[in-house]
This record gives sequence, structure tokens and C-alpha cells, in this order.
Amino acid sequence: MTGNFITSLTRGGEAWTPTFVTTLQAKRCIGCGRCFKVCPRQVFNLVDREALLDALSAEEKGEDWEDDGFADEPQMVMTIQNANDCIGCAACARVCPKRCHIHAPWPLSP
Ligand code: SF4
Ligand code: SF4
Repeated sequence: MTGNFITSLTRGGEAWTPTFVTTLQAKRCIGCGRCFKVCPRQVFNLVDREALLDALSAEEKGEDWEDDGFADEPQMVMTIQNANDCIGCAACARVCPKRCHIHAPWPLSP
């Protein structure tokens, strides 16, 4: 993929388009910490689940927040803290057992 997105080259000279993390679907997160450990850029942070819920709008929470089996158990969930530090390696998505991360190419600044 080339064009109006941030692109690079592999060591062998092939075009490569990083896919940057854009969303972490926290309602799926089980707080296992795998993405935190694998990320080379300290993009993520564990936060208190209830505090995160309080900070989200009803639309952001979605209907299934209370149906995930964790509603009565205080726990930590992962969030994106430093999105601009992401290099688009997609390692986080590879290790996540709950498919929480959404990635996309990022447009070049005009
Ligand atoms: S794509 Fe790579 S750099 Fe970006 S958040 Fe995931 S592991 Fe970190
Ligand atoms: S790997 Fe997935 S389930 Fe585990 S903490 Fe990260 S986002 Fe949550």
C-alpha cells in the first residue's frame, strides 16, 4: 500500500506500510498485559476498569459492558496512552488473545 499513507521500506527494499494502533476495545480486554509487554514503544497503560468506565460515554461503552462477566470484579484493563509513539509494527495485535486492537495505515500530514 502506498499513496497518502505513512510508508517505509523493508531492509530488502520492499515497500512496507505500517499499520498503527487506532483503537483498543477495552470491553474485550482481560488485562493480561501481553500487549504492554510486547510493545517496543510504551504505547499502552493498564488502568482501573471502573475508572475507565466512568470516563466513557454510553456510546463508547456499548451495551455489553455489563455482560462480560467482569462487572462485579474490579480489575485493570489496557488503554492506549501514547498513540503518537506507535511505529505500526502490529505486534500487540499478534499477542492479544481477545482481538482487542484495531490497526490502520495512517495518513501523511498535509
Ligand atoms: S503496533 Fe507496535 S508500536 Fe504500535 S502499539 Fe502495537 S506493539 Fe506498540
Ligand atoms: S493483550 Fe489484549 S487482552 Fe491482554 S491486556 Fe492487551 S488488550 Fe487486554
